[in-house]
Amino acid sequence: MMTFPTNDDFSADARLLPCPRRRAYGKQACVIGFLTELFSLEGRVAVVTGGSSGIGEAMASALAFAGAKVVLVARDPTRLSSASAALCAAGCAAAWVSADLSDRREVRRAASAAAAAFGEPDILVNCAGVNLRPPLAALPEDQWDLMLAVNLTAPFLLGQRFGPRMADRGWGRIINVTSQQAERAFGNSGGYGVSKGGMAALTRSQSEAWASSGVRVNSVCPGFVATPLTAGVSSDPARSAALAARTMIGRNGEPADFAGVAVFLASPASDYITGQTIYVDGGFSAT
Ligand code: NAP
Repeated sequence: MMTFPTNDDFSADARLLPCPRRRAYGKQACVIGFLTELFSLEGRVAVVTGGSSGIGEAMASALAFAGAKVVLVARDPTRLSSASAALCAAGCAAAWVSADLSDRREVRRAASAAAAAFGEPDILVNCAGVNLRPPLAALPEDQWDLMLAVNLTAPFLLGQRFGPRMADRGWGRIINVTSQQAERAFGNSGGYGVSKGGMAALTRSQSEAWASSGVRVNSVCPGFVATPLTAGVSSDPARSAALAARTMIGRNGEPADFAGVAVFLASPASDYITGQTIYVDGGFSAT
């Protein structure tokens, strides 16, 4: 059962502080104790695909700052080592694995290499993604295959690799990053939409498979966020402004907007939430 600390719990510590306002420090410690119990990821290991850039990098950083050891997985070693070094310089524990997740053998190799860094992960974030936009009638088969491989097959395989082991240990978190296009046709991204719709379904199926063994599986659905993935749109001020105008908040998203939801869904705070999609989109999907 969760127990909330009171000011009395911290009075001894507060007496050690060279500050006349001990009561204030006692209260602060009480708040910190409460938030730590809800949100701390101390002792957890997280694998974040796409953790070298954009939304994935922001989520990986948030998990690391909340106490998790993180392993970033993507292709480009330069961006991976830079993102990982920034976390280590900030006092976090981070490592990286370079792998092309469009290749099933590479997915399996990446999973083993990631688990070798800090041990079997407690948290898996599937954020690596590609969005190729030829209109559906002209979408080449190899581009269709690539989007399904990176956006859907890799999360399936990584879930199959890590999910049962989380279940055996009685605790785990899987966070799948989907898209508005999981539920609506949008921007001539038909193949991408299919892959993300599949990922939303995968979230429910993974939850069905392992939730009763302590593994929670949820999706995060972004609105429009300026990242390398969306450079084609974000470099067009008119299109960017039109997307911002469709939100309720009045602006497009930023990678930092995903820090809170990552920690929430990875932490004990979300213990009774599974099989769901959380929309981090400034109200875009509600209009
Ligand atoms: P991003 O900054 O371009 O990041 C994409 C990440 O995926 C990078 O780390 C990239 O690293 C990795 N990646 C791409 N192909 C890969 C492959 N074959 N193997 C391994 N890693 C690969 O894009 P983002 O906007 O943050 O996107 C993150 C996720 O959010 C994606 O799943 C995307 O579909 C979703 N999303 C984004 C938006 C948006 O508006 N930005 C909206 C809805 C959903 P390498 O290139 O080095 O491999």
